[in-house]
Amino acid sequence: MTTTAPASADAYHRPAARFTAGGLDVRASALGQCRRALWYTATEQPVTNPPEPESLTLLETGNALEPVVVRAMRRAGWTVAAADRDEPVSVTVEAAPGVTVTGHPDATGCPPPEGGAAAAVEQFLFGDEAQKVEAEELVIEVKTRGPEAFKCWQTLGAERSHPESVAQAACYSLGLFGECRDVVIATLDTGSRTWDYEVIPAGRAELAWRDASGRLEALVEHRALNGPDPTALPERDFNAADWQCKRCPYLNLCQPGGAGEAEDDTEPAEPVSDEQAREALRGYEQAQARIKSLEADKRGALKTLQHWLSRKGATKARLEGSSKTRTVGMVQSRRYSVDHKRLNALLEPEQRSEIVTDQVSEYLRVS
Ligand code: SF4
Repeated sequence: MTTTAPASADAYHRPAARFTAGGLDVRASALGQCRRALWYTATEQPVTNPPEPESLTLLETGNALEPVVVRAMRRAGWTVAAADRDEPVSVTVEAAPGVTVTGHPDATGCPPPEGGAAAAVEQFLFGDEAQKVEAEELVIEVKTRGPEAFKCWQTLGAERSHPESVAQAACYSLGLFGECRDVVIATLDTGSRTWDYEVIPAGRAELAWRDASGRLEALVEHRALNGPDPTALPERDFNAADWQCKRCPYLNLCQPGGAGEAEDDTEPAEPVSDEQAREALRGYEQAQARIKSLEADKRGALKTLQHWLSRKGATKARLEGSSKTRTVGMVQSRRYSVDHKRLNALLEPEQRSEIVTDQVSEYLRVS
């Protein structure tokens, strides 16, 4: 079952999940959410951990920047039809018997013709109707991410970094076009204010949709077994250390004391007073200032040596130092880079996960 209908701006504020006469309806943007959290929402449990004002500001900033991404895409030669935010088109798709997914596509459009923005302008001015008609309209899912999440998405690809966004776009494609076409994830880095995009081939988008639908089927089975009972809870999908739990509006309901326990892990063995911490910070600042000044001295000395070497017309020369004779010479270094967009387009997510791996390290930053 697939329906499309105009909706009002209020549609953006629908609950993440709700029971319907036919079963369960889930908001498309909540496809990756914890199923227990969806159950709490559908059974109308009170929120115990409302989002901090800073999180709401971040969310609103992301929403406000979406039209900026659309305009940037148009400047780069894309043909983009963006949603009317006061009257967005609502799409409902049946994910499995008894479960529907409803959402509002951000935009649809086509990539620029071969040759980029310049070719698009030329096509516009001189016309190439055949090419215009042939270009297939695709769903464009617009996202905004902080620098770290943006880098993660570019490197790993959307299916690994944010699979729910691919499933969401696939849902819109099914709803709007009646088939799962290629989908486009366009993302803005809120730090550098640059944007990029990834095209997910239709087959892979459909797979993401099927994975997301399969997760939701478990909730429908849970309801069939228990009815809409707020105390009969599905299993947790995450644990207290995961960011999903840390930001969950039902954290205290689901894991009373869970967040505190997670924080306890990072408590230092020996307590450090505020005064000791301030002293450590001052020591850090002094060390940083010394390092900066030494780095500047080093750069200046290297520059002088480089001029000396080039005036000699040599690439290498020996020179007496304070304790020994040293070699001063130009060396070449080569960097290799990987075009992650091409790699992501060529390989299945499973193959990519064997090639592009990620390691997480933790360090303290003072800014
Ligand atoms: S606290 Fe974590 S496990 Fe519990 S409902 Fe929220 S996200 Fe799910």
